[in-house]
Amino acid sequence: PSAPSIMNSHFASIGEDSPQESYEHGIQVVDEDKDFNENLFTYLNLQKVIPAGFNYHLISVFGSQSTGKSTLLNYLFGTQFGVMAEQERRQTTKGIWMSKNKREDSGRGMAENILVMDVEGTDGRERGEDQDFERKSALFALATSEVLIVNIWEHQVGLYQGANMGLLKTVFEVNLQLFVKDSKTIPRSLLFFVIRDHLGTTPLRNLQNTLVQDLSKLWSTISKPKGLENSQIEDYFDFAFVALPHKILQPDKFEEAVERLGSRFREGYNDPKRSGLIDEAELPILLPQYHRRIPADGFPAYAAGVWDQIVNNKDLDLPTQQELLAQFRCDEISREVLIAFDEKITPFEDLQAADIRMGTPSIIPDLGSVMNLARAAIIKNFETSASRYHKGVYLRKRAELESKVDTRLKALFQKQLSAAHKSGVQAFSDGVSAAVKTGQKKGAAYDFAHIVESEKTKALSKFEADAVAIAVEGAPWSSHTQELILYQKDLDVVSSRLRKDEMRRLATRVERWVRSRLDESVGLEFNKLGTGRGGSGAPEHGERPASEKDLWDRIWAIFTETVTGAEKRFTDRAQSFDASSEEVDVGLWRLRRKSWGVLHAKIEEEVMEGNILLKLRENFEDKFRYDEQGVPRIWRPTDDIEGLYTRARESTVTLIPLLARFKLSKTSAPPPLSAWIGEPPASVSAADEDDLAPIGGVDEDEGKSLEEEMTVLSDTKQADLLIRFKKTADGVYVEAKRSAIGGMTQ
Ligand code: GDP
Ligand code: MG
Repeated sequence: PSAPSIMNSHFASIGEDSPQESYEHGIQVVDEDKDFNENLFTYLNLQKVIPAGFNYHLISVFGSQSTGKSTLLNYLFGTQFGVMAEQERRQTTKGIWMSKNKREDSGRGMAENILVMDVEGTDGRERGEDQDFERKSALFALATSEVLIVNIWEHQVGLYQGANMGLLKTVFEVNLQLFVKDSKTIPRSLLFFVIRDHLGTTPLRNLQNTLVQDLSKLWSTISKPKGLENSQIEDYFDFAFVALPHKILQPDKFEEAVERLGSRFREGYNDPKRSGLIDEAELPILLPQYHRRIPADGFPAYAAGVWDQIVNNKDLDLPTQQELLAQFRCDEISREVLIAFDEKITPFEDLQAADIRMGTPSIIPDLGSVMNLARAAIIKNFETSASRYHKGVYLRKRAELESKVDTRLKALFQKQLSAAHKSGVQAFSDGVSAAVKTGQKKGAAYDFAHIVESEKTKALSKFEADAVAIAVEGAPWSSHTQELILYQKDLDVVSSRLRKDEMRRLATRVERWVRSRLDESVGLEFNKLGTGRGGSGAPEHGERPASEKDLWDRIWAIFTETVTGAEKRFTDRAQSFDASSEEVDVGLWRLRRKSWGVLHAKIEEEVMEGNILLKLRENFEDKFRYDEQGVPRIWRPTDDIEGLYTRARESTVTLIPLLARFKLSKTSAPPPLSAWIGEPPASVSAADEDDLAPIGGVDEDEGKSLEEEMTVLSDTKQADLLIRFKKTADGVYVEAKRSAIGGMTQ
């Protein structure tokens, strides 16, 4: 598994930078030192073959030196391969040359993008050299070419021991070495015999038969791998034959025949009946089954890789080469397509990062459509170029690319969604508060539950819209189901916080109501003290008027009734906005405690020194200065002023201890405050108790008893009040005395 990265290096050497070369004579793919030309990509790019995908063809020519191979290619394809000058007989440059067909548009219907390889110096044996280059170039040609043209003089046909047979033997052996390993993917190759200087005396068919017999004989002498001992040459090769007239003796006929031959370099279709011998003179020879299926943009790297293996005498394993090529090219294509993706996506990633750094995550408009377009484009672009390569590798690399892209898009998606979440919750909270404020301004009782519901609906549909806008087509991770649940939860949390606020506002309103009611009704009760006779009973008979005797009973009754009324208001309203029964219970408990505080304060206000002294004086005066019928007394000297004074004074004085303690007349005990307030509800929180004043006898740990809580006037206050009151009363008495004497003297 670690091998590919090392082996990939032989692909990576193909650069795109081009030195200034004209390529007039095509390109020397492999030179005489067996070095591979790194500019193959540049050349094919200049020839516009690189973007052709599978729409290109590769043809190689083989044959003895000086059999007119280059001459033929130049005629057929308009190439300018080096040709031996007729006088010099000097060998042209050794190596493998390549050129693109320059006669594509010659009207002969030739296929597009035909590349021709002219293999020079393949007949080392004739020149006494080693056969190394011959074998290596045969391997290279077979690994890459669809058609191998075998160039042969007519007079060489039938010379079984000739140099050509040696070359063909090499081709057959190499073919077995290359393709037999993986028997499922054996590509067929076409051996196209071109017989030169055909005199015409021997018909082509006879020459053809001779060659086929010789080839079969040759095939039988080759040692074959196990299991393939009985294989036939036709299992691996198709054959085609053509004869050309003598170029020098019959130049017109030669050119005519070459023209006809050129028209056969067009695309045909696979015909199962036509395997083996392709002998019909006019049939197209570029059949799909010969194509090596290397995409044009990967061909330079592939050819370099293949040559690298060959030249280093490594085991050339084409399926492995193709997988390695696929990995190399898919990685390259990934990098290429990521450039456009980065251009579109990186600015948004930066924007989000900046937003988050500033602590102001915001929803980026159009991000969804940008993401969708970028993702669709990168996958499409990758697919277009990479899907031509080895399927397994392509699918794996595509998945890698998708996951790389999706990791980034998912981060954008989630940050956008979290911004939508934050702003949605904020908008919801603001929306409710604003609607409540408007409701308060209008004065009428607004419907809090309705406000919350409608704001929540708005918030949910906004979030839904934001999430849909950012959803990426075909990306399962861009679902917002989970986030929606979290969002709803947060809205509920905010709702309950807002409801709590609303409960507080309601509590404040109800408390205000309680205060104003108690102000009025308790005030009234204390005012009644000012009328000492209270309408019934006379101090003479020692009976205390009801207004005095039942003061606390009435206050307690008024208080409890008022609070009951308030509780009902509170409960009704709280239920209207779906407060839970626990929340209502806490609210009521608080209301009772606070109401008690209101009453306590009111009582304290009533018994403040000046107030209570005034009340006692009024009470006394009422008793002293009015008779039983309520008629003001006119003092006469005979009147028992002293007696009346003493009785009225004593009657009023005894009011002081009565006022001093909040007691119910029936039980002579304080009202059952603790029971009335009740135990704190289980759901009460620390915050709920924060602003509550302690109540004696209720909050035991306060160290203040119920007696103390119910003490309206302390003993010292009572004593003080008594002294002051007596002084006031004395004043009234003196005045009465004076008026009695004064009335007499008048
Ligand atoms: P290559 O070494 O096979 O590429 O052969 P060349 O194309 O360089 O040609 C070698 C010599 O053969 C040259 O002098 C050509 O003029 C000559 N030649 C080319 N084509 C033919 C042909 O069809 N018949 C004959 N007799 N000579 C040819
Ligand atoms: Mg040549």
